[in-house]
Amino acid sequence: MAKKKKFGAFVISLDFEIHWGVRDYKPARGDYRQYLLGERQSVPAMLELFREFDVAATWATVGFLFAKSKAELEKYKPEVLPNYKNTSLFPYDEKIGENEKDDLLHYAPSLIQQIKETPRQEIGTHTFSHYYCLDSGQTAETFTADLQSAIAIAEPYGIRPQSIVFPRNQYNPNYEEILLENGIKSFRGNQESWMYQVSETNQKKPIYRASRLADAYINLSGHNTTKWEDVWKGRIANVPASFFLRPFSKKLGVLENRRLKRLTQSIEYAAKNKEIFHLWWHPHNFGVNLKENINFLRKIFEVYKRCEKDWGMQSLTISETAEKALELS
Ligand SMILES: [Zn+2]
Repeated sequence: MAKKKKFGAFVISLDFEIHWGVRDYKPARGDYRQYLLGERQSVPAMLELFREFDVAATWATVGFLFAKSKAELEKYKPEVLPNYKNTSLFPYDEKIGENEKDDLLHYAPSLIQQIKETPRQEIGTHTFSHYYCLDSGQTAETFTADLQSAIAIAEPYGIRPQSIVFPRNQYNPNYEEILLENGIKSFRGNQESWMYQVSETNQKKPIYRASRLADAYINLSGHNTTKWEDVWKGRIANVPASFFLRPFSKKLGVLENRRLKRLTQSIEYAAKNKEIFHLWWHPHNFGVNLKENINFLRKIFEVYKRCEKDWGMQSLTISETAEKALELS
């Protein structure tokens, strides 16, 4: 069979977690609460923009958010739980309400339904419990149990996750077999540059943080795009991130144009060179300054649309990118 023609891919993924992704360092009633509550506006606003521009996205969703009640959470709770050395990561003692109506931070069936009803949206998994695959104290057994709960709780929605984003991007190569056995075929890997490498300690080091911040404005790490032939190097497909979409910052407002330029150049590079550009963020990053964030995203989508017209770029989910990569390389 003749090889199909390559094209540039424009991939978006969102880590959908509300409080479950930040609970170890942001208390539910603390300053960050307004960002988390803001997801009730930011998710519909993003979906509307995706619909307007016909943009596909993968929503890597925490399994807890599918629960309609506390009883349902209990029903899907894995039989074996991780015993993290860093005990603040253990989520099962979190104080939560009875359901979405009285607890907007820990349940999200209505938002999941909206995502499901929007064209071109994939619902992947962000594990059941925002599970930390590299933390000491967890095992392959507890990971398997967690993943199976994530799959089970999505089933009544008619959703079968095929892609995963690892919480804190803690990809554990030893878990590929478990993922495959459970129907997960692709994941979002990290940017290749040294400043994006994940370990238990280096994420918090000032030099890493400062470099990543500067990299959003000036080209330090390169275009961070991925070649099609590099997607299937492991047993499951890796569709690596190119950039984290930083939230609008009033403090750094004067640099917004520079931030847009940095992303534009990378999208154009991917389009012209027929590579993969992958942008990600969390809906809570848009939880405040929603208007500014949506306006910025609109400008990015306009760049994508131009690249679609001029270079045949296509918008794809993580799973679609993995499938295309099989055909193209
Ligand atoms: Zn997360």
